[in-house]
Amino acid sequence: MMGRTHALTGWCAGLVVAPMVGAEGAHQAVAFATVTSGFALLPDLDHPGASASRLLGPITKAVSWLLRKASAGLYALTKGPRDEDCKGTHRHLSHTVVFAVLLGLLTAVGTEKGGPWAVAGVAIFALLLAEDALGDWLLPVAAAAVTWWATSTPDGLGELAPLAGWLGYAVAVGCIVHCLGDALTKSGCPFLWPIPIRGETWYEIRPPKALRFRTNGPAENWVMVPVFSILAVALLPGATDYALDVAAQVVGR
Ligand SMILES: [Zn+2]
Repeated sequence: MMGRTHALTGWCAGLVVAPMVGAEGAHQAVAFATVTSGFALLPDLDHPGASASRLLGPITKAVSWLLRKASAGLYALTKGPRDEDCKGTHRHLSHTVVFAVLLGLLTAVGTEKGGPWAVAGVAIFALLLAEDALGDWLLPVAAAAVTWWATSTPDGLGELAPLAGWLGYAVAVGCIVHCLGDALTKSGCPFLWPIPIRGETWYEIRPPKALRFRTNGPAENWVMVPVFSILAVALLPGATDYALDVAAQVVGR
């Protein structure tokens, strides 16, 4: 799947999950969804050419290298009798539910201890990831959102504090949405590791042949991207009420 589809689906999933974990209200839902959107790109940090790996120059390159080493090591150690003969770097360790949950826990503990600045750090990193995938138009939108945030809340940074802890959910949800997206493509995604399936511990989950789609193919570009773009706006807190209000006024005239 292309980066922008991952970012879009992550954003939509974030808006759906935010109220479930108590991140209610427009401010917190938007911050929460920004993080799921950005972290829906993170698993590809296991590919040296991915935008996540190039994002912060040598820093993310080094993390990507470490992740590939760890992934290859874990693959060699845990591969089942029928698993493919491959290096186990791309689409392995970082493309599993176990990785998503561990990274989520780490973020929850880190932001709980680090306070509002740690929360802001995670949100900014996520925003940079999403911006890299969706395009530079996101920067003015983000600047407007930050201004809106700062001017419409009495205590801008203070409002970030309650997000600590919940951010763990956002990070985990983002990574899992990425895996689900990859699982729809032809190569599949071994996200249920280490559960053994048909002699493979890294069994690539994918739908029946007819439903698999090609990365950057017509199904992705002409169906998924438009549908999720509409949902990205429709799922914003209050968006449907607002649309209904406008519709009622138009009809009332
Ligand atoms: Zn991927």
